[in-house]
Amino acid sequence: MILVYVDHDRGELSELSLQAVALGRSLAEPDEPVDALVVGGSALEAAGSLAAYGITTVHLAVHDALTDYTPVASARAAAELAARLAPRAVVAIGDQRGNEVMAHLGAITDLPVAADCTEVTLGDPTQVVRARWGGNLIEQGLLHAATPLLTLVPHTVRADAPGDGVGQIEEFTPELTEADLLVRVVDRVAESHGGISLTDAKVIVSGGRGVGSAEGFGLLEDLAGLLGGAIGASRVVTAAGWRPHDEQVGQTGTKVSPDLYIACGISGASQHLAGCHTSKTILVINNDADAPIMAHADYAVIGDLHKILPAIIDATRTAKAG
Ligand SMILES: Cc1cc2nc3c(=O)[nH]c(=O)nc-3n(C[C@H](O)[C@H](O)[C@H](O)COP(=O)(O)OP(=O)(O)OC[C@H]3O[C@@H](n4cnc5c(N)ncnc54)[C@H](O)[C@@H]3O)c2cc1C
Repeated sequence: MILVYVDHDRGELSELSLQAVALGRSLAEPDEPVDALVVGGSALEAAGSLAAYGITTVHLAVHDALTDYTPVASARAAAELAARLAPRAVVAIGDQRGNEVMAHLGAITDLPVAADCTEVTLGDPTQVVRARWGGNLIEQGLLHAATPLLTLVPHTVRADAPGDGVGQIEEFTPELTEADLLVRVVDRVAESHGGISLTDAKVIVSGGRGVGSAEGFGLLEDLAGLLGGAIGASRVVTAAGWRPHDEQVGQTGTKVSPDLYIACGISGASQHLAGCHTSKTILVINNDADAPIMAHADYAVIGDLHKILPAIIDATRTAKAG
């Protein structure tokens, strides 16, 4: 059996949650059960919907203290379940939360963790290919463990469409100590960009140093508004305080894979590309025809973004009005 850690946000499953399920199913032998661990009673409805995505049994960890993301307690619940079910592997999506929970699970169980895999062949030993250093180094590795713990780089697999699977939910209450609950979400601050989150956006209008100032992002906001998109930023921009940190795209920011990524005044450092190179289409607006990001552009407009963006905004408004 394959055990999948399926994350959720206060009961809401995301595209990445469903990619975790697709990962588990891709590793299972025909007819091998794929079970899921979902943590927190708020996810009861979400847990029920997982059957349609091919989960055999959803193990719902319920406890008075599990009201929001609680990484160590989630790992403790996973360890308890893994000891009981003896799965062939425990897998999760390698976003920040998935990697954090699996790291704690490794520490609790003393099992080896291979994070940020791009390919996995379960066996004895398990073979993995991993993206290291933001994707600059591709590593092939062997894992000698009865139950390897694995996370997969987001967007390496596609989430399946729901089918007509019939699964079951089994609730259990993990044994938790106070130490397991020390790290937990105690407050939420609304995202500054409101509405569409970076990871869900189909269109991202992203700005770098070339935008020149916080005020310069007004043009990017206008275009994102017209296209129903979200704003992204390079680290130079978030470090300068022009935009909030939750908008940073890259190795130390959010990893995104929208249909359209519009990179305005971004040079294309490897640490930035690590977060956006899987975008389906990349449009670059840059005044340097030799900027490294050009190598990843599907389309490029060479010139001053302060002149090009107003022209694109006008053309988009005209097209929408027509
Ligand atoms: C450990 C580590 C982690 C990192 N993590 C991240 C990360 O997660 N995300 C990230 O983004 N960076 C990250 N960085 C930083 C990264 O190395 C780069 O410094 C950063 O991405 C550069 O940002 P930029 O492209 O906005 O700026 P620059 O590299 O300065 O590029 C600015 C670009 O704007 C263009 N430009 C200037 N004026 C205009 C104009 N008027 N019109 C059009 N184009 C113009 C220039 O030609 C240039 O190409 C990390 C670095 C390290 C060491």
